[in-house]
Amino acid sequence: MKKLKLRVGIGYDLHRLEENRNLIIGGVKIPYEKGLLGHSDADVLVHAIIDALLGAVALPDIGTLFPDTDPKFKDANSIELLKKVYSLVKEKGYSINNIDSNIIAQAPKMMPHIPEMKENLAKTLELDIEDISIKAKTKEHLDAVGEKKAIEANAVVMVYNA
Ligand code: ZN
Repeated sequence: MKKLKLRVGIGYDLHRLEENRNLIIGGVKIPYEKGLLGHSDADVLVHAIIDALLGAVALPDIGTLFPDTDPKFKDANSIELLKKVYSLVKEKGYSINNIDSNIIAQAPKMMPHIPEMKENLAKTLELDIEDISIKAKTKEHLDAVGEKKAIEANAVVMVYNA
């Protein structure tokens, strides 16, 4: 019998909030006066999860795989990038056990959108909703995130060889 091998990965991301941008987090378009600035759609949660997955299987990070100097990734749908990364994880012989994550935003409220984010992630990563955790936090009005100038996300994933 093959020996069970578990690996964990950690991911972090931050994007600035700017005018005239859509706010897309966890693949959900959230109504708000500003959106996250980035070369792709700047989906901060999906980017953190991508880096956690890449970290878990020790592949190069998101910026190396999808360089922001490449016009191909301009306004890229991050869920599509996540799909690609998931196939790389599978190629390495790993499956995802679970995901835990934080979205750190002073505004807008993330809570109402979390069920839809979980559905998007579950569908993309072939997981059950119960295997995905997304928590919403604020920065108590401190620092750039607390001043509504940016949104951050953290993610941890566990993968196993199967
Ligand atoms: Zn990002």
